[in-house]
Formats: sequence, structure tokens, C-alpha cells
Amino acid sequence: MARHKMTKGVCRLCSKDTDLSFEHVPPKVTNNKNTKYITLPLEEYYKTDNILDATLKGKKKQGGIGYNSFCRKCNSFLGTNYVPSYEKWVQAGYQLQTNSETAYIKYQITKIEPLKILKHIISMFLAINDNWYLESYPELAEFVSDVNSTTLPKNFRVFTYLNKDGNIRYIQHQTVGDFSSGHIINCSEITFPPYGYVLILDYSNQNIEKLTDITEFKNIGNNENLSINIEIHQLPTHINIPLDYRTKEEIKIAIEKGSKKRNEEL
Ligand SMILES: [Zn+2]
Repeated sequence: MARHKMTKGVCRLCSKDTDLSFEHVPPKVTNNKNTKYITLPLEEYYKTDNILDATLKGKKKQGGIGYNSFCRKCNSFLGTNYVPSYEKWVQAGYQLQTNSETAYIKYQITKIEPLKILKHIISMFLAINDNWYLESYPELAEFVSDVNSTTLPKNFRVFTYLNKDGNIRYIQHQTVGDFSSGHIINCSEITFPPYGYVLILDYSNQNIEKLTDITEFKNIGNNENLSINIEIHQLPTHINIPLDYRTKEEIKIAIEKGSKKRNEEL
């Protein structure tokens, strides 16, 4: 088994400048142990004629995916307080996955602890983003580091979807145009089957097509006797661009249109 080295740096949860241990994102117990995955810098997608083939040229890596983002104390805090609940949520997600690229699923989930799940999801966003993120939005770390806190300011919203097809995403906070609405959105995105998550800033009131808003998990708390009705889309992630859930077919059509246009210009 590969050993993960400690590094020096600022813990993204308690802000201490100390030794940082390796944090699996998502947790090791949610299938992130011997993940085979492909990474490809975003520029490579733009350089290539066929985006779908580009993935094949990406670097193959193996081993749990993670970041040296938390001190040992915060790492074990997350492991003790949130990971068991997060794992149950992931198990439910695996049961819901279907074999088609896209699907729309309604279900009832019982015996989950929504507040803990939300806190763990936000901790993953702290883990993948750089220090400026922690410094700019200290409310996120405050929400995660206090088990009982239900205080997450309105300008932060967390969305989810089911995922099976496509590539994993670890996209740091950036500004993008939403494909369906054309709106400009500030977001960070993590996709690792069976779920994808988007943390969006300053996008009040409006919904994002096909994404399920789970920000309300902060107010539901951790009452294990609750049943929650969830409606969720399964979406593919073929290209490493936030909020792009086009199917292979849709991407092919877009590529063909693009090359046709180029030929006409010649
Ligand atoms: Zn810490």
C-alpha cells in the first residue's frame, strides 16, 4: 500500500500552520482506495479535435485520491464525526444508480443524518480548494468544525446529482457560464460516483436545471427518525468543465457542428 507523506502548510479547517496529513476525497471507505483515474489539464480539451477521445490521452493514476489539506486532528475529527453518516449516504446513492447516462429518480431516504452529510461535503470542498478559499469564506470552516452549527450563510448553496458515466471532477472554485441558462455562476465541483456536488456562491433564489439543492440539509439536522423525499437526476460528466452534463451524443453533435462550420469557412 502506498504511504502518504505529511507536508507543511495551513490546515483548511482550523487554520493552524502545521503538519498536514493526507485526506481522502471522498473518504477512503466510499470506494476511494484503489481508484484508477485519468487526469487531463483543461487546455488539452480545447486543443483536441475530438473531446471524447482526449480523455484517453490523459495520465492514468492509481491510488486513493486526496489532498494534504488538514492537520491530523482535523482529519480524525472529520473521520469520527461525519464519515460514518457520509458513507451511508453514498451506499444509498449506489442503490439508485441506473445504467442509462441520464435518469430522473424520486425516492425516500430514511435514517440519514443530513447535517453531518452536508458538513462532510463542504469539508471536501475545503480540501480541494487553495488557502485563499478558506481565508475568503471562513464561514465554511466554521460550519464544518462545529458539529452542532446550523449556521451557513444564505450565499452558499450546495447542489447534488447522481453520477455513473464520465470522468471524475475535482474543480476548484471558478466562474463559469451555465450551459442551460446562460447565467454566470461562481462554483466549485466534485464528482466521484455515485454523486456529484456543486458548491455555488452568490446565486440566490434561482435553481440550476437538473441539480438538486441540498442546502436545506443544514436545517433538517441529524434526526435519524426522519424520512426525506429526494428527487435527483443522474447526469454524465464526460468533459472536465463545471456544470457540463451533456451526454456523449450531445457532445458528438456539438463537435460535428463545430467542424462543419470550420469547413464552410475554408
Ligand atoms: Zn486542523
